[in-house]
Order: sequence, then structure tokens, then C-alpha cells
Amino acid sequence: MSTASRQAGKLLPAFIAAALLAGCGGGDDGSAGPVPPGPPGATVSFRTAGLVQGLPHLETDSGGRQTVHVTILTQTGLKTLSTAPSTPERAAAIKDGLVPGNLVDWLASPAGTVIVPEDGSPAFNVILSKGSSSAAQFNLQKYGAAVTRNDGAPGPMVAAGWVYGKTGSTITVGDGTTVTADQAGRAYAKPIKRYEETYTVASDARVFNVNTEDYAKSETSTFGAIPVTADYHYGTTSRQAAYLLFDDNYLNADRAKVVAIWYFTPPSKSDGKPTWDVPTQSPMLGDKGIDPVSGLPYVAINATSVSSAPYSRSTEPFEMVKNTMYYVGDNEVASYVLKADMGTADTSDDKVIKIDAGWPNSGYQYWKNMELVGIDPRSVTDLWLTHGHADHYGTAVEQLKMMDNAGKTMDVWASKEDVAGVKSDLQGNAWDIPGALPESETALRARTNKFYDYDRWYDFGNVRIMVIWSPGHTPGSTNMLFRVKNPADGKFYTFGYHGGYGFNGLNSPTAANGWRRLSFQHGFSYLQSTVEVDFVAPQHTNQYPIVEVYQALKAYNRDPANAGKQLTMMEAMTSRVYDAPVLGGGKITSEFANQLEKRRSVASYRASDEANRSYKSIETSGPFKPGREAGLANVRATLLDEGKIIQGFVGAQNKNPSIPLLANGIVIPTDSYVNDPGGFYVQVAVDVQDSTYKGYIPPGYKQASPGMGTEITYDGGPVESVHAATGTFHPPEYLRTQRLNSLAEAQAVLARVAKGRTVTLSLTPASEIVVPANVADAFR
Ligand SMILES: [Zn+2]
Ligand SMILES: [Zn+2]
Repeated sequence: MSTASRQAGKLLPAFIAAALLAGCGGGDDGSAGPVPPGPPGATVSFRTAGLVQGLPHLETDSGGRQTVHVTILTQTGLKTLSTAPSTPERAAAIKDGLVPGNLVDWLASPAGTVIVPEDGSPAFNVILSKGSSSAAQFNLQKYGAAVTRNDGAPGPMVAAGWVYGKTGSTITVGDGTTVTADQAGRAYAKPIKRYEETYTVASDARVFNVNTEDYAKSETSTFGAIPVTADYHYGTTSRQAAYLLFDDNYLNADRAKVVAIWYFTPPSKSDGKPTWDVPTQSPMLGDKGIDPVSGLPYVAINATSVSSAPYSRSTEPFEMVKNTMYYVGDNEVASYVLKADMGTADTSDDKVIKIDAGWPNSGYQYWKNMELVGIDPRSVTDLWLTHGHADHYGTAVEQLKMMDNAGKTMDVWASKEDVAGVKSDLQGNAWDIPGALPESETALRARTNKFYDYDRWYDFGNVRIMVIWSPGHTPGSTNMLFRVKNPADGKFYTFGYHGGYGFNGLNSPTAANGWRRLSFQHGFSYLQSTVEVDFVAPQHTNQYPIVEVYQALKAYNRDPANAGKQLTMMEAMTSRVYDAPVLGGGKITSEFANQLEKRRSVASYRASDEANRSYKSIETSGPFKPGREAGLANVRATLLDEGKIIQGFVGAQNKNPSIPLLANGIVIPTDSYVNDPGGFYVQVAVDVQDSTYKGYIPPGYKQASPGMGTEITYDGGPVESVHAATGTFHPPEYLRTQRLNSLAEAQAVLARVAKGRTVTLSLTPASEIVVPANVADAFR
């Protein structure tokens, strides 16, 4: 084996490069690849790639050094490769990394021996790992995984997916998602196959039939023998998966050819479930009828898990703010791109900021979505992660590899608390609480080079971001506010991104999660009281229907009747809840405050216990703030702001009658039992004059949980002390009254609230302000 070495010339005409390629292609000498760009006279070489066929074995020489032998279906045929001799430890590590079914790359000496690098870097790098998985992997030619960079040049491209078409010189590969009509049922002229690409195949490309039941039985095959997936019908469960290797890197994607194909038999099994641009079980599927395969209404079918069937969750990207803010996620989890421009002539201070990294194995969708809105995924300068869960950092390492391969850098931002753990809060209290990022994520941990400063605006010119530490969902969860300048009117608009909305892991109090339950609740009230947000940028599409809003907008714009009155996302998204009562000339509830109220209710109120047996609300089960186990009667308190009326959750989100599909808003089934548009609360920042509570739960604090019928010894953790603001007795609390039955009652209570006033009030054990028979006396 040898790697391809070429004299590279930057100004080398393309026809000479092509002649060089033609002159050396296809021989068994291991040569591969045309000329990557480089300075004149530079010598570059690509690493060689192949699929591990057999189990590796070790051979020990008389000096005790070990050689690894392994059979590989290489781009030049089936070969037995041997490494240079190395220490037993090194050899064992190399052997462990050689998993049959994985596509790997390596460098060989002129004699054909696989080089074991002296700097300790791996002899073989894994490009794609099929291993024992029956699931298909997906990778686009131009983005994502590739042969490892070498000699100053990006490595050759690889692609992966299901085979959907073949001609004598091309192959079509993708994820099989096809969309035939918009959400109004208006057919597309041509079905949309968004994640599918057609590549040119070299006439002498190597083809291998890979036996996934026994990799050692894999064998050489022919291009003509590659099966093509029969059709796109939902019921087609048998799909032909393949890996492809190209002769060149992404810089020459337009003229690169496929030089090796590994197709997998028996075929991959997919579950045949329908795919949509909107989330499965979206109310928008209510009129789509019955799935002929399962016999179930389309709206009742839940897609397979994102990680095993990413194709079932794909959706198209869309622009939210002209030329500045984009949705590039899937129909399950969000990812946004913000294009920031400081306004200077110097473009080096411009930024492309990607917010969260989605699910693993879904990277191809996010890269393609970025390309579809005109953003090169390799142009990302900063990746901002909200919290340490895999559905949000899932492609971070994949993106870093892509950037490394291109020789580009990207800053990775995260909360210190989810990466390194909670060591202190912003009041200076010391803690030792592990963060959510798993120990196994060593690469991401090592590459995270920026930790957030909280509660301040980062100014990137037309884009400003504030990060608010808001533990609950995880110890280091963060919420983000994006202030984005709309070039259409020159005004800034604020988007609220609640970066840790899930109640999973918090449904009933435990020693470990007690502080997080209170902190989770606090975070919602804190945001409702302290920030004015114009639009919701949800983190998951089952929280707020941002994908439905876009699809409704698209259907509207495709209606020929609307040709002369096209709308933008800025016009499709609503800022205020349509049916909220009007006070002082404006609707009192913002869509963001309403979204927050939904999950705050789930955490706080008895309705949770009644709707879901596994849920125990703070109201019934605690924890209660220390010293308030029996409530507080007639305690003095200083009011720190003017107070605010909070409406109970309104189920219809983003109701917008100017767009037919949004005429009634979107009612998302998750947690809809907290729908309570007729309930009102008065919420206020307050310094309660009690001497026990300090803004956190101390470690080892014992308390009875009435709902659980047991005593819990809490591990402790910060609640309001995640902020730096000081009060006299503890950091400011954002407390609210018990439920009021009308807006008029809420107005009567609010009339007694004024910043700086000291009042007498009573609290329930769950720190709700007691509403007496004369409601106005809640604050006396
Ligand atoms: Zn999460
Ligand atoms: Zn999530």
C-alpha cells in the first residue's frame, strides 16, 4: 500500500489535473486522488481508506514488540495490512479500534506498512462506524465525515445513505425522505428529496458487497450488482445502504468521482413509518387521513426515535429574520444560525453563530439545511451549546472534525456548570455538583474553549446574545435571548430561547433533584418578570410550533390567490397571545411568557399530580423553601419591582388568523392539561423578611414531602443564588399569588404593588402569596 502523492500546483490548469487523474486511476498501486490545492511545488498526499473486514490479530516479535494484522476492503481491493511494530499497549489500542464494518483511514510507508505515528496519534482513524449496527448512517458528499486531513490538505470526501438510483456513471444516495405536497395539500411540481444527492462514479470504481452478518464473508462485487431501493413508499422497509469514497476533497467536490462503494447486505431495515416536514402527531396532520400501511391515522403515528431513524425527523430550513437568523434544525430539535456583522468594513470580525448542535447521526440534515439557506457549514465561527444533553451537542464533535479537516477553527461555548460541574453560584456560595455532560464526552470537553458570562449582553453588532444560567433541566442549563436587527425595518427584535424546558428527571422530588425543581420553577418566573421578548425561538418543536408556523406560512405563500401579498416569518410569528385580554392598549400575554407558563404550571401545580401519576408538583410534594414548611403568616416583605399580571396557559400558540392554517393557533398535546386561560396571577420581585431561607437549599437539609409521604434529605443547591442581584435577606425571589379567578381580581391585587413598598403578606409552604377573601389584601 502506498498513499497518493502528487506535485500540486495552485495554478495548474484543470485539464492537466484531469489528465493526471486519468493517467493514474485504477491501478493496483494504491494511487488515488487528483491534485488538492496547495502552494506550487508542495507535495501532498491523501490517507488511504477502507472498510475493516476481518477481526484484527496481533503478532509478537522476539523483542516483545507487536504488529497488528487486519484484512481491509480498501479502495484498491481486499488487502491484509500490517502495522509497524509497536509496544504491546499501543498495538492493543490499535487492535481495539479496528471494528469490522467501520470505515477507517491510515497512512502507509512506501513499503506498504501502516505507519504508527510517533506522536501517539492513532494509526487508523474511524471515518464512519457501521459496526454491528443495522441502522443506516448518513453523510453528504461535501459535509460531515471525510478521510482525515493530511499533509496540509483536507482528506477525500465520503458519503453514506440509501441507494436510490443508478445509471452507468452515476449513483444517487440519500435518506429517502420525500415530500409530495405542502401542508395545505397542494402538490409540489416535483417531489422534494431534500437529503439526496447524485454523484459521478469512476469507470473503474471498486465495489464491495459487505456482509453485515459476517463481515469476514464480505467480497468484491460490481457496480452493476448494487441493488437499488425499490421505491419511496412509506411501506418500503428494505433499503439498500452504502458507503462511498471519493477521489478528492470538498474543495473539488464539483469534479470529484466515486472511487469505492461498500454496499451492505442484508439490506437495512427501516420501520416504514411516515415522514413529514412537521412533527409527527402535529395537529396539522389531523386532516391527512389514514396510513394505508399501518391502518392508523397519520396524526396518531409517532416517529421512530431520532437517533436510530434521523430521516423520520427531518424538515426544511427557513429564514426567520432576513439575511440574519435561520432555523436549520430538524422537526424534533431546534438549531439556529445567526449571521452577525459588526458593521465594519473589516469582515474578519463577522461571525456565523450556530446555536446548539442537534442529534447525533443527524448532522447531514443540519449541514444540508445550512447549505439550503446559503450558509456554508464550514463558515461557522462559534457554536453555542445550551446544556449537556446529547440532543443538543450531538453533532458538535462531528462539526469540529469537519472544521479540523478543512483547517478551520471554531469556538465552542458552553456553561461551565454542565461541563465542569457547579462549583459556586453567583452569590459566592460553594457547591460541588456534577454537570450533565457525560464523562465519556472527552473530546467535546477538551474542545470547549469558552464558558459563558451570565446576565450580560454579548454584542456582535446586529446580533446580541444574553445567556442566563437557569438550572433545573440540568445543573448547567442556560436560557438565551437573541436580539436581532431586522434589516427590513432597522429595528432589533428579541427572541427567547428556553434552553432546558424538559421536566424529565424532575417529575418527583429526590435528594439530588430537589434544588433543581425549585430552580426550574424560579427560572420561568424570572424570565416572565424580567425580560420583554418579542418572539419565541423554541428548543424543541413539541414546546412551541415554530416548524408548523413556517409550513403554514409556506402553504399560504404557495396559494396563487396570495401571489400579490406574500408574507415573511416575521409576519407569521405572533408576538402576543391572540386571545389574551387587552390592558392599556396591548394584549397582556406574550407568546414567550405563555410558553414559559405551560411548563411552570407542570412543575408547580396540583394539576400535574392529577393528570399524570408519575408527576408530583412542588405544591403537593415540595421541596419547600427552608423555614416555610408550614407557610409564613403575616411576614414583612419589600417589593422590588412594579409587579406583573401573569395569565394562565393559553393552549392555542401562535394563533394568527391572517394565515389559514394558523387561524386557531396550534394546540400541542404535550402538557395541555395545564390550559387555563381564565386563571391569573400577580407576580412580583420581593425580598421576604424571613431569616431561614437564603436563596438555596443547604446540603443535607431534611424535609417531609407530603405528596411522597416520606422525609427527603436534600443534597442542596442554588435557587435564586444563580443570580448576582442582592436583597437584604436573600437574593430577590420572584413570587406570585395563588390563582385569581379573573383579570379584574388581578388588577385589584396589582393596584397595591409598587416598587420600594414594604408590605405584609402570607406564604403557602410552596411560597405562593396567599390570596385572602378580600383579594386586594394579598399585599397589605
Ligand atoms: Zn435536555
Ligand atoms: Zn432536548
